[in-house]
Amino acid sequence: MKIAMIGTGYVGLVSGVCFSDFGHEVVCVDKDPAKIEKLERGEIPIFEPGLDRLLAKNVEAGRLSFTMDLPSAIDGAEAVFIAVGTPTRRGDGHADLSYVMSAAEEIARAANDYLVIVTKSTVPVGTNRQVKQTVKKANPDLDFDVASNPEFRREGAAIDDFMKPDRVVVGVQTERASDVMGEIYRPLYLREFPIITTDLESAEMIKYASNAFLATKITFINEIAALCERTGADVKQVSKGMGMDGRIGNKFLHAGPGYGGSCFPKDTRALARTGQDFSIPMQITEKVISVNEEVKRRMIDKLQDLCDGSFNHKTIAVLGVTFKPNTDDMREAPSLTIVPALVGGGAKVKVCDPQGQHEGVDLLPGVHWVDDPYKCVHKADLLVILTEWNEFRALDLKRIARKMATPRLADLRNIYSVKDAKRAGFEAYESVGRAGFV
Ligand code: NAD
Repeated sequence: MKIAMIGTGYVGLVSGVCFSDFGHEVVCVDKDPAKIEKLERGEIPIFEPGLDRLLAKNVEAGRLSFTMDLPSAIDGAEAVFIAVGTPTRRGDGHADLSYVMSAAEEIARAANDYLVIVTKSTVPVGTNRQVKQTVKKANPDLDFDVASNPEFRREGAAIDDFMKPDRVVVGVQTERASDVMGEIYRPLYLREFPIITTDLESAEMIKYASNAFLATKITFINEIAALCERTGADVKQVSKGMGMDGRIGNKFLHAGPGYGGSCFPKDTRALARTGQDFSIPMQITEKVISVNEEVKRRMIDKLQDLCDGSFNHKTIAVLGVTFKPNTDDMREAPSLTIVPALVGGGAKVKVCDPQGQHEGVDLLPGVHWVDDPYKCVHKADLLVILTEWNEFRALDLKRIARKMATPRLADLRNIYSVKDAKRAGFEAYESVGRAGFV
């Protein structure tokens, strides 16, 4: 089957590559010439482990290609996926659907034969019906169906998540569209991964409800962490004890500096906005959004305490600025709130991140980028661990402490312990939701 993929970002590129690995013929389209030129040279514009090998294999097999020319990409395709961005619209929290709708119009103008227009982008409930109207208006004679196929994978583990999903959600209106979608995902169906077929609205809602629920889980444990700090409980033990309950589960129960990334912040805002539009306020989600902001502010207070009340003239080393490990994605990372507060408070900030510099250079003005954690901490007054990259999980803490001017550690991902810090010679250690020492 021939498939066209509109958008070669984090979602479109991984989906396109994986569909081609299923054996489909996939043409990926993007408007950004720099991305297409890179991809044509076999280079990957994003950092996603394993993607380079899978891409090269399928290009070599002649199943995967890249173009800026949408009409040629959809010529003969039975399905075209829209995987363009849906960022927060300025001012009102709503998802900006302009990229989706203009992709839909472009498809409508270029298509001649029956095809299924599949929205993979995260879009508010009702959007697929709008896509249908847009296409009908632009090309009234076109025989087509729409389908909703939201994406649930995690950046950094995207290929594995795509190949071994917990479930695939497909929202359709017709049997014909359902058959096309079934054919696309046949390799997963054969391996007995569940594929749930729903109506369009339910598929759209599943995505937002899932993300809002996960953001709630993270925020819940972050709030419990604050109470643990006050009461002497240890949030790591608490989340372990909670997570062993099968009804709760142990995932997304790690206390940290607040959620960030390309999905949770914008999707919680969009769900809250949809609730307002339909006069069903999403009170829990709205609260999650505001508590998450407080969590980030609480981290800044914690760092300030470790700097004796002021960042001014302090040298602070920050390890990790991407919103999570194994990605170069900086969108709405907690670092974008925390690091500017340090710089703004008069600190000299040195930053080390295995993949974050390319994106981070423009987003974090005034910091010094260093490529090695041991160089980063040289003469620092405080070390802050913000992202739990593997590279930072087994640091030689003694060596770190020796290199620092005042060996103080803010471990905002709870990688180390009071014992580790004391043994290494740190004079202060704070983490999230656990007792520290000063
Ligand atoms: P992205 O910004 O990385 O990529 C979007 C790409 O689409 C860009 O390369 C852009 O140039 C291209 N584009 C925009 N309009 C186009 C057009 N008309 N024709 C061709 N190309 C066009 O976005 P992303 O992170 O891949 O996210 C895409 C969607 O998937 C969003 O709705 C997001 O919420 C959702 N999603 C993302 C993730 C994730 O991990 N990033 C996970 C699940 C769902």
